[in-house]
Parts: sequence; C-alpha cells; structure tokens
Amino acid sequence: MYKDLEGKTAVITGGNSGIGAAIAERLGKEHMNIVINYRKNLDSAKTTAEIVKQNGGKVIIKQGDISQDGIADELIDAAVKEFGEMDIFFNNAGMETQKPTHEVSLDEWNRVISVNLNGTFLGTKAAINYWIKNNKQGNVINTSSVHQQIPWPTFASYAASKGGIKLFTETTAMEYAKKNIRINQICPGAINTPINAEKFSDPAAYAETASMVPMGRIGKPEEVSAGAAWLASDESSYVTGQSLFIDGGMVLYPAFQDGKG
Ligand code: NAD
Repeated sequence: MYKDLEGKTAVITGGNSGIGAAIAERLGKEHMNIVINYRKNLDSAKTTAEIVKQNGGKVIIKQGDISQDGIADELIDAAVKEFGEMDIFFNNAGMETQKPTHEVSLDEWNRVISVNLNGTFLGTKAAINYWIKNNKQGNVINTSSVHQQIPWPTFASYAASKGGIKLFTETTAMEYAKKNIRINQICPGAINTPINAEKFSDPAAYAETASMVPMGRIGKPEEVSAGAAWLASDESSYVTGQSLFIDGGMVLYPAFQDGKG
C-alpha cells in the first residue's frame, strides 16, 4: 500500500480490460478515485468498477475513443466534476494487428498509430494542460511494450507505435520536469490478457512464447499493475522519463540463456 495515493484521482484509458482493469483494481486497493475509460465493452467496465469499489476505491465509468481529439479532456472534466481533482493519467489503451507489412493498408496502419501513439499524445497533452492551468504537479504513466525495443515482424505498426511512445515519453518527461510533471512508461512483456487470449488458449502457442521468456512463463496483469502503482506513488518521486520493463526478462536476449551463443 502507498499511503500517499489514498484519495487521489486517476484516469485510466482502456481501464475496462486486461492490464488497464488490473491497474484500476490495484488502485482501488490504494483507496483511490478512478475514472475507467472504455471504448466498446460497457459490461467489462461495470465489472471492473464493481471490483474497484469492493477493493475500497471510488469509481466512475466514461465511454470514449481516445484516438479522437477532445476525448481525453472529457475524461479529465469527468474526473474533476466527480472527484474534484485529476492527479494521475494512464495512457493504457492500445491495440495490435498482424499482417505482412507489404499488405498493410494505410487505413490499417493509421488505426494502430492513432490509438496507440496519437492516443498517448492526446492524453498526455490534455493532462499537462490541466495541470499547468491549475498550477499543479502531475504524473503520466504510459503503457508501452517490450516492442519499443524488440522488433516484431508482421506487427510493424504496433512496434512503430510503441517505439514512438518511448521517445515521446522521454521527450515530454524532459520538457515538463521543471513543472513537477513526471512522465514514465511501463513496458510489459507477454501478459495474459484479452489482447492475446486467443493465442494463449493454444497450449503450443503459449509454450512457444513462454520459451522466449527467461523466467519461463507468461506474466499476470497484476504483476504489471504492481509496477504501475509504484510509478503512480510518491515512492517513485525522483523517477521520470523511464521505462519500467515488467517482462520476466524478455528484453535480455533470452537466446543467450544458459551460456548459449
Ligand atoms: P486488452 O485488449 O485487454 O486491453 C486494451 C484496452 O484498450 C481495452 O480496454 C480496449 O477497449 C482499449 N482500447 C482500444 N482502443 C481504444 C480506443 N480507441 N479508445 C479507448 N480505448 C481503447 O489488452 P491489454 O493487454 O490489457 O493491453 C493494454 C495495453 O498494454 C496496450 O497498450 C497494449 O499494447 C499493452 N501491452 C500488452 C501486452 C500483453 O502481452 N498483454 C504486452 C505489452 C504491452
């Protein structure tokens, strides 16, 4: 538990599912106020909201496509209206599509970039504007991926979006450090969430991915939200512009494990 988080307010984009839902549930345990943003699945947003309440947090649900200009501002307005403040903004929502790059249409490319990268830009921009206008310190936490670093053939739009988030996080962290606005990113490895549930339901596919992780297993959303809570808290008060890899060692060149190579 991080005592300083109690009573603070966080907005979580894509907070209805997977890693975003785990972050909402964890911050509920910290007795925070949460705005769960969802795009399509209201039922999962309601289920997550129930768990947040059971965990001791307060919560509202707000629909919106975060790739559209103005939606992040609406989420912040809703937070302030309900809870009186907005302290932490999680740019968590994301998507991926798989196709050989030479077959990807411009529309397909733009969709991934607009949700993952433009959505992160729009959320960060709205949050910074709110804090500057109100003369407050702030905290942005982006969800990047090990694929900000590891190339991923047939997922070029996803890898490009996450690589973009990396330098966007580092650049904005430097740009707003003097205003006491911290900006960091979590970089999950292979985590068992709906984004890859279909793939991991196949034991062979699960085993193949697990074999690419030095710790030999797929991660749990709760293991990611634990890192997110630390970045949200004042325990990380001197940390900005950083990538927190939560990946069982996936970025450590696992092919070299056991002295191979
Ligand atoms: P998920 O599919 O469960 O969650 C994705 C969330 O993003 C959903 O809530 C979805 O509704 C939301 N979303 C998508 N487009 C949106 C839009 N336009 N507007 C608002 N919300 C939108 O998958 P997840 O694994 O929980 O993914 C969360 C984040 O974690 C993503 O950014 C993803 O790239 C990243 N990530 C996941 C893994 C993994 O292995 N699961 C690994 C690395 C990074």
